[in-house]
Amino acid sequence: AERHDRLRLCIYSSDMEERQKERRQLELELGDEIRNGDGLYLSYQPSFDPSGEVMLGVEALCRWRHPVRGEVPPTIFIPLAENSGLIHLLGEWVLRNACRQATEWPELKVAVNVSPQQFKRIGFVDLVRRVLGETGLDPRQLEIELTESILVNDLQTAEAQLAELKKIGVRLALDDFGTGYSSLSYLLALPFDRLKIDRSFVTRVQSSARGAAVVHSIISLGRALGMQVTAEGVDTPEQHKFLRVAGVHAFQGYLFSRPVEAGEISERLAAQKAARRPS
Ligand code: C2E
Ligand code: MG
Ligand code: MG
Ligand code: MG
Repeated sequence: AERHDRLRLCIYSSDMEERQKERRQLELELGDEIRNGDGLYLSYQPSFDPSGEVMLGVEALCRWRHPVRGEVPPTIFIPLAENSGLIHLLGEWVLRNACRQATEWPELKVAVNVSPQQFKRIGFVDLVRRVLGETGLDPRQLEIELTESILVNDLQTAEAQLAELKKIGVRLALDDFGTGYSSLSYLLALPFDRLKIDRSFVTRVQSSARGAAVVHSIISLGRALGMQVTAEGVDTPEQHKFLRVAGVHAFQGYLFSRPVEAGEISERLAAQKAARRPS
């Protein structure tokens, strides 16, 4: 039995080594890509008003088209960037590109995802200020999406940082709400403008009375605190109807639109304007 264990251990560790090497390689390639490649780009997923017809804003989602591996999903390369420190370079690239792009869409809010490491780094608020200055984007158009994990350990620093961001005039969204360490007293203390209900809850509204009750209470909480409430990952008409009746302000999900390229957003905006203009 002992020999058997040793053998297994051996296989396991060489497997680990293999994966470690693979990760290192991908990390190096990502670094090159950020510094001087052209494989990174942004997709934009729109959010809509309760009718599902009027675009309110877009969320910038980072994409990596790898010359050999094809599309690498952000669920792979974002954690990689976070664990290697590349997230600072990558995050700045995303922020600058999204802000520059959004100047072409004055009627839309643009949401940018920010990792906890970026948010916690000294100088983050200055970076946001600088990028807004360089691109000329109206701060009120920019929404910074953060997750509950920024609140772990040091609530006071997070609070101060959030207040600084609010002073610049940007908006703050609490992303993936419900999946982290949500504590009501935390939430009450923080100046978030928007609550984004995670897709895992949205999926459950139809399947059980309990699922529905939880989502109802998240929506009431957000509304009571004066926040806009967004539902993410809405992908059936039944979910849409339930959430609309329950008081959700903004809708995001495959039912309405997948993430699309910037040009597509511009076209839809133009069509939306043309439709609204009385001829
Ligand atoms: P997230 O911020 O919660 O983004 C929403 C994710 O849900 C996106 O996946 C979007 O394509 C997907 N989604 C939207 N509607 C639906 C739906 O109806 N059904 C399903 N199944 N999925 C839907 P994506 O683009 O793969 O991004 C995954 C995560 O990667 C994001 O989650 C975010 O945490 C992270 N991420 C993406 N871009 C960036 C970035 O620029 N910076 C940082 N820090 N994180 C990013
Ligand atoms: Mg997000
Ligand atoms: Mg989200
Ligand atoms: Mg999510």
